[in-house]
Amino acid sequence: MKNEAPRLREMMVARQLEPRGITDIHVLEAFLEVPRDEFIPGVDLREAYGDHPLPIGEGQTISQPYMVAVMTQCLELIGGEKVLEIGTGSGYQAAILSRLAGTVYSVERIESIARRTEELLRRKDYDNILIKVGDGTLGWPEYGPYDGIIVTAGSPGIPSPLVEQLAEGGRLVIPTGSDYSQRLLVLTRRGDEIIQHDEGGCVFVPLIGEYGWKDRRR
Ligand code: SAM
Repeated sequence: MKNEAPRLREMMVARQLEPRGITDIHVLEAFLEVPRDEFIPGVDLREAYGDHPLPIGEGQTISQPYMVAVMTQCLELIGGEKVLEIGTGSGYQAAILSRLAGTVYSVERIESIARRTEELLRRKDYDNILIKVGDGTLGWPEYGPYDGIIVTAGSPGIPSPLVEQLAEGGRLVIPTGSDYSQRLLVLTRRGDEIIQHDEGGCVFVPLIGEYGWKDRRR
């Protein structure tokens, strides 16, 4: 059906996001606008808007819509910010952020995923997103400091380069814990002080890199 995707997005917002405490109107508008189905290769339309993560190839996933929303809301963006994302994956989170921030810098360690997503974002005219292939646990120092940093893979701890690249008042949102369950932590820079709070439990694929988990294939 031609107009089904906008209706599925409305349902996703009304049933999965608003009742669970996503109240930032700009975040909700971004979810109504960005076509999640376009970021998942070969997906069934209804499945794309389901309340769960989905595979995107190479053993990686696009996160559950609610998790993308809660992490985005935690950044408290008001417009114009520089945001760093670690774990580009499908590009959906980056596309949501691109509607709320000035520029999105996104780092992905798997080259084939990064290239496919870069091409998709270029074709769809998301012209305020820059992608780099590399180890995101090192951040992207050339463009820092960042007003927001969002890590979309689970880390054993807080990578120090990311804290160093956080601007004054900036927020770092990161799932931290074991390789099968984590807590979603939000760290805010206030001068030399870092204030931390816990946004609840979550489950992410592992953040692999120098300041993350070691690559078990080596
Ligand atoms: N944000 C993504 C989206 O919207 O689809 C979801 C990302 S998926 C849950 C996690 C991604 O993090 C994977 O694509 C994985 O390859 C990537 N990743 C894991 N460790 C990384 C690292 N050190 N640097 C950059 N990307 C990493």
